[in-house]
Parts: sequence; structure tokens; C-alpha cells
Amino acid sequence: MLDHDASVLLIYTGGTIGMIENAETGVLESVDFNHLKEHVPELKRFKFSIDTIQFNPPIDSSDMDPERWCTLVRIIEDNYNNYDGFVILHGTDTMAYSASVLSFMLENPDKPVILTGSQLPIGKIRTDGKENLITALEIAVDKDSEGNAMVPEVCVFFQNYLMRGNRTTKINAENFKAFNSYNYPVLAVAGTQIRYERHLIRKPSPGGTPRFHYWLDSNVMILKIFPGMSIDIVQAIFNNPQLKGVVLETYGAGNAPERKEFLDVLTRAVARGVVILNVSQCVSGSVEMTRYRSGKILEDAGVFSGYDMTTEAAVTKLMFLFGHGMDLEQVKQQIFQSLAGEITIPG
Ligand code: ASP
Repeated sequence: MLDHDASVLLIYTGGTIGMIENAETGVLESVDFNHLKEHVPELKRFKFSIDTIQFNPPIDSSDMDPERWCTLVRIIEDNYNNYDGFVILHGTDTMAYSASVLSFMLENPDKPVILTGSQLPIGKIRTDGKENLITALEIAVDKDSEGNAMVPEVCVFFQNYLMRGNRTTKINAENFKAFNSYNYPVLAVAGTQIRYERHLIRKPSPGGTPRFHYWLDSNVMILKIFPGMSIDIVQAIFNNPQLKGVVLETYGAGNAPERKEFLDVLTRAVARGVVILNVSQCVSGSVEMTRYRSGKILEDAGVFSGYDMTTEAAVTKLMFLFGHGMDLEQVKQQIFQSLAGEITIPG
């Protein structure tokens, strides 16, 4: 249902969608939002109102960081009551990280926050940016028959698919289908109509109000294991006194080398209070540390299962939990809870 009095705040952070080719070097560079608007005259044809706000200067999303995530949350909090939904134009490279962290920083939203972007700049004739932007805007104001937002969640919309943001991963550097949500079904598909899977979409908790969080701690690390990795280098990482959390990307169902030196490094780190979260290098499926001995030894060393979380969700969840001053015990309690639908804990 489309409400004609509705309004959306469109936040332009940068990314390919708003870039043009530098005439001298040929590389893509960000330009300002007016350029983008010129190429989407359709923005004037919507029956609802669209206000815009932009990062100054717009950035390549490779430069996204906690400070800018806080800026996004600040913009949304300051404008929350004035809009029905929010669309964030964002580069694709780190969109899955931003969507994940925003799902934690915006607690219990009752309005949509949709991230989108494109693989080809909006000025190119074959751009995918127009479709992505136009449909994301429609989703941001869509309501059910009772007037509630259809998708009160942080989502990524890309190439006809609406996905829970903290379940997404960038999977392709050139194909228009740049994102996938392997461990959770899509929330909506846009064809001639937008078909929502309402039973899969989160609902705000009754009586609860939205809350906005600003604290993140960057003393975390992602470590992807591989055959032949140097224990000395792994040791050097774990020895860093600032280190609070590690997302350990393991093989298959959560397996790692059984080498004593490696396990000793992990055990010593856990004893120091470092949280180690086991996520799989496989894009699909869940960690199951009791399936193989090479997984069980990690559990015995004090490593936590990240179950089916993406690396992007796992690392931003650690940043969020440590940012709130939690210690090992508190993090342990929260890590096994779904804060925003980012994890499936087996029954
Ligand atoms: N490098 C660009 C960015 O993430 C890529 C894109 O937008 O697709 O900002």
C-alpha cells in the first residue's frame, strides 16, 4: 500500500552509483549528489516526498569506518520521526559490513532502512543504479493495511532482491547480482509487483521503542586460516595487548589444524579474555564444532561458535558488543543471541 503523504530520507554516502570517470586517468571518482539527481528524473515523479542528505565529500565505501557509521546513525536518529523510511546509497564494497553494523546500532526499528547502490555509475546507459534506487525508495515507504512499515529492518536491496542486511555478502565484482544472502531467505522479490515474505521479516517488539547506539570498538580482527600459515605470525597477532576479539574463519563446519602450537596460541588468548568466534570460510551452512575432532578441539580451547553468521556480521557484532564495554562473560551471553536476526542458533 502506497501512502501519498509518505516521505523518505535518501542519504547519499558515495559509491559507484554516483561516480564518473576522471577524463585524464579514466578511474571512477565520486561526485556530488546533484549529478546523480540529474540522471534520475524519475525522482520527481514519485507521489511521496524525498529529501536528500549527502556525505561531504562522498566516499568510496572502502573508506567506510566506525566514525561514518555513527554519522549515519546520527542522521537517522535526528530525522527518525520526520520520515517513513530511509534509503542509504552506499558503495557495494563494504555495504554488507555497513548493513550488518547498522542492524546492531539501530535497535528495534519500526521503519525501513534500505541500503543500495550499483555496479555501473548512474550516468551509464546500462546502469543498474536506477532500478535499485527506485525500488528501494518504494520499499522504504511501503505499508501494510494497518499502516505499519512492510519491512521494519535494515536491508540491502540489489538486483530485484531485498535481503536482511546482516545476512548479506558481496559475491561479485562485476555482475549486477552483486549480493547474496546464503543463510537466510530473501525478504522480498521485485518483479511486476514487490512480493514480500512477511513471515520472514522482523517485527518491532510490541511496546518497545527504537534505540540508537553509537559505541563501537575496533580492537578486533578477522583471521582466515589456510594450510601452511605461520604460527609466528598468528602468535604476533594474538599477542597484541589491545586485541579483544577475533573472527576466526575456519574450514567447512568449523575445523582448524590440530597442531599443538596453534591451539596453545588460542588457549592463551582465551585465558587473557580474548573472544574468538568461529565462522566458516564456506559461504553457506553453519559451524558445527562437535562434528569433527578438528572442530571440537577449538571448542575445548574456548573458541565460540559463530554458527551461520557471515564474517561481516560476526566482526561488526564483536565491535558492537565490545563497544558497549562488555567483558568476556557478557559477550559470551550476547554472542549466542540473535540481536537482529543475524544468527540461527540450532534448536
Ligand atoms: N569501490 C566502490 C565502492 O564500494 C564499488 C561500488 O560502489 O560498487 O564505493
